[in-house]
Amino acid sequence: MPQRERGCLVAIEGIDGSGKSTQAALLARALGAVLTRAPGGTDLGRALRSLLLDQDRTLVGARAEALLMVADRAQHVEEVIEPALSSGRSVVSDRFSGSTLAYQGYGRGLDVEALASLVRWATGGLDADRYVLLDVPVEVTTARRADGSDRLEALGAAFQLRVADGFRALAGADPDRWTVVDGTGSVEAVHAAVLAAAGVW
Ligand code: ADP
Repeated sequence: MPQRERGCLVAIEGIDGSGKSTQAALLARALGAVLTRAPGGTDLGRALRSLLLDQDRTLVGARAEALLMVADRAQHVEEVIEPALSSGRSVVSDRFSGSTLAYQGYGRGLDVEALASLVRWATGGLDADRYVLLDVPVEVTTARRADGSDRLEALGAAFQLRVADGFRALAGADPDRWTVVDGTGSVEAVHAAVLAAAGVW
C-alpha cells in the first residue's frame, strides 16, 4: 500500500483579539483540516486552560505558567496533532509554540532560548509547518475585546505590546516559517490573506 502523505500543521498566532479563532475556523473549513487550539485542545488541556486563564486565579508564577503551557503542548501534540498529521489530515491550530515564546518569553520575560528548548522537548521536535501572524495594533484588539478578558488578557496594554513585539521578532527571525498578515481588514479580506499565507499545499 502506498504511504499516506503526511498532513501539514498551520498555526494562527497573534495577540488576544487579533482574530485568531475567527480565522483559524475559516481556514480549517477552507482546507478541510482538523481545527484545534492551544491551550485546551485535549481533556487535559481544557483543565490546564482553566488553571491558566481563569481570572480569579492570580497566583500563577511565570515559570509555573510556562510549564503548564508546555504540558498542554505535549498532550496536544501526542493526542491530537501528531495522529492527525500522520494519518494524512492537515491541522489548523489557534495558537501553537509561537505563543509560548511570545507570551512567556517576551511577555513574562523568561529566557526565550530556554523556553524554545523546553518546547522542542515537549513536542518531540514537532513544529508548525507555517505560522501565520495576525498583526493588529493593541488599540484595535482592546476595542474588539470590550466584552471581557481572561487572566492573561487582563495584564494590560504594556504586556500586550511586549507580546506583539515578540511575535514580530519571532516572525522576523524565521521568515521561511512565519508569514505576517495585516489583520485589520474585514474578516473576509483577512481570510483571503491567511489562505494565501498558509499556502503549503
Ligand atoms: P482571538 O481569537 O485572536 O482572541 P477572535 O477571533 O475571538 O480573536 O476575535 C476577537 C473579536 O474580534 C471577536 O468579537 C470577533 O468577532 C472580532 N473580529 C474578528 N476578526 C475581525 C475583523 N477582521 N474585523 C473586526 N472584528 C473582528
